[in-house]
Amino acid sequence: MSDIHILLVEDEPSISGFVRRGLIFEGYDVKVVEDGRKALDAINDRRPDVLVLDLMLPGIDGIELTRRLRAVEEEEGGRLPILMLTARDSVVDRVSGLNAGADDYLVKPFDFDELLARVRALLRRTQTSTGDARHEMLTFADLTLDFGSRTVTRGQRDIELTPREFDLLALFLRNPNTVLTRSTVMHRVWGDDFFGESNVLEVVVGNLRRSLEGEDEDRLIQTVRGVGYVLRQR
Ligand code: CA
Repeated sequence: MSDIHILLVEDEPSISGFVRRGLIFEGYDVKVVEDGRKALDAINDRRPDVLVLDLMLPGIDGIELTRRLRAVEEEEGGRLPILMLTARDSVVDRVSGLNAGADDYLVKPFDFDELLARVRALLRRTQTSTGDARHEMLTFADLTLDFGSRTVTRGQRDIELTPREFDLLALFLRNPNTVLTRSTVMHRVWGDDFFGESNVLEVVVGNLRRSLEGEDEDRLIQTVRGVGYVLRQR
């Protein structure tokens, strides 16, 4: 499981619900609060790796919250990556959000994939090198997965994965040339959270393949029809 922590500050349950569920599905650790005051408490409690912040909030709004956080950082250092969620077509909102110190913004309504891409871009900017001593590596063919830096490469190519895709690939790399049943993979990668849902595994395997297998590269994750998947070279 990933320890990348995302704090979502959003007072509309319909939005926080689907964003939270999507981020958890992708393997992030997510906390949701509904207003700026609770957000400050949550940040003091556990500093997130990314803050996803609605602009229009009751009480302390997104702009004010961003200003306060940046003011504290002026004194104490650090910089929390902030993705601001703004209302549709509100140019003023976007500009003031960025002026207040947000790193990026996303206009409502948005697709989850769009939000995920922005979050990953912000994480990439900050997670340059964790330089940990513990560098367990797994390799298969021209594929390398490094637990220390949480990076994946195929040949010379860097591959970006969500935490869930990373966990899934790690499971395959720990069991090369071994057929893993669908239920084994679901239990090992998702626990009971999403078990039984129809096509989540196909979707994530599909995304993983798109990232791993370029046009002129061999397929590495093979489907064993009616059973599951196997990491194997043809
Ligand atoms: Ca709102």
